[in-house]
Amino acid sequence: MEPYQSLLDQAKRYALAYMHQVRDMPPYPSEKSLDGLETLEEDLPRSGTEPSAVLELLRAAGENGTTAQTGGRYFGFVNGGLLPVAQAAEWLADTWNQNGALAVMSPVTAKIESVCERWIADLFGLERGTAMGLVTGSSNAIICALAAARNELLNRQGWNISERGFRGAPRIRVVISAEAHSSVKAGLSILGFGTEEIETVPTDELGRIEIGSVPKLDRRTLLILQAGNVNGGSFDPICALCELAETAGAWVHIDGAFGLWAAASKKHRMLTKGIEKADSWSADAHKTLNAGYDCGIVLCRHREALVAALQAAGSYIQYGEQRDGMLYTTEMSRRARGIPLWAALKTLGADGVEKLVDTLCENAEYFAKKLRESGYILVNPVIFNQFMVAGRTDTETENILRAVQSSGVCWCSGSRWKGKSVIRISVCSHATTREDIDRSAELFKKIRDELHP
Ligand SMILES: *Cc1c(COP(=O)(O)O)cnc(C)c1O
Repeated sequence: MEPYQSLLDQAKRYALAYMHQVRDMPPYPSEKSLDGLETLEEDLPRSGTEPSAVLELLRAAGENGTTAQTGGRYFGFVNGGLLPVAQAAEWLADTWNQNGALAVMSPVTAKIESVCERWIADLFGLERGTAMGLVTGSSNAIICALAAARNELLNRQGWNISERGFRGAPRIRVVISAEAHSSVKAGLSILGFGTEEIETVPTDELGRIEIGSVPKLDRRTLLILQAGNVNGGSFDPICALCELAETAGAWVHIDGAFGLWAAASKKHRMLTKGIEKADSWSADAHKTLNAGYDCGIVLCRHREALVAALQAAGSYIQYGEQRDGMLYTTEMSRRARGIPLWAALKTLGADGVEKLVDTLCENAEYFAKKLRESGYILVNPVIFNQFMVAGRTDTETENILRAVQSSGVCWCSGSRWKGKSVIRISVCSHATTREDIDRSAELFKKIRDELHP
């Protein structure tokens, strides 16, 4: 058993000690804590180090350089918390060290992924048989889905891109929202779509596509919608736009990194109404589901199109008896991301996922109410699990944000919205309690009273 016994015991000891203190840790490390990271700065040593000493160094130098992501008062970006069972299942999966590329490399990974494929389609209300790939995150999921869209739209015009390439191909139109996430633009660029050829649709005051401004769609069009705006949490009018696209024969992709999970909740499902009419979707299990990094999900109605795009396989796709996970991703060797995903879903059940989504949203609502009561401007009504607040001027907002970020009490990120500075608050962890929000809201009040009475 040695050296596993002592090393895993040591790692478990450190992990539990971290978990015990994480709720009281500053959500973002202080300058002084960050100094500890400098001990990691060295040239590659010629001789090795005892593994237990390596773990000890990692703990001593590294722990203080972590953001307290699992602590309950981290509201930055859209960084999800971590369900205990997802973490524990991940440990087990790490111990197994499975390669998820092919079923023959890991029968258990293949089985679990095929179960998750069905569960996720059911949870989101998509057709059974929808193809799923597990990738690092939504950025990669978007690339996979858009590659399928590009190739299939060209295919329908008699152009096989894996044989003839993209140069000289018939034109594909790309229609996106002015509020599209940066990862959508990056994905389009990687796939050969320049910013000048993209048609950008203006958005309303909440950041939703204005239906009246959508250009005429046709069967050469790729329309990209958003379920969950990264700043204010708003959703495009998905149902109406999917109907327009369906009539026109356009391909619709829905970027639902955190917002697609609304489909799992009766209370919030109206936000994603009509998603089942789209062609492809992307979501993150490491955001709303709290399944831990990295767990991006690509979904596609057209299995062949997804696989053909990612494997350059044209119409020669050979499916095995079991699921080969690599077919649905840009990767070959791949960790068994399905295992923590499966563990999270199995532990929660559909009801538990619904409750998780509802709790995050109720907490966001509660947080926003507290901030409004203490004089903050609520930039938009709370729609899902994230919202924006501001002070009376940009300077005020920026001063408050800096003070919050260095407070050691809670942490939020800033952004720009409609030309103004805002503070974004993302409630994305199951670990966040009402007390966490009370404490954070009190801090906001105190900072405002002190800095800008
Ligand atoms: C987070 C996010 C992404 C990017 O996802 P990653 O998992 O970080 O790659 C894309 N779109 C939206 C709306 C997001 O919130």
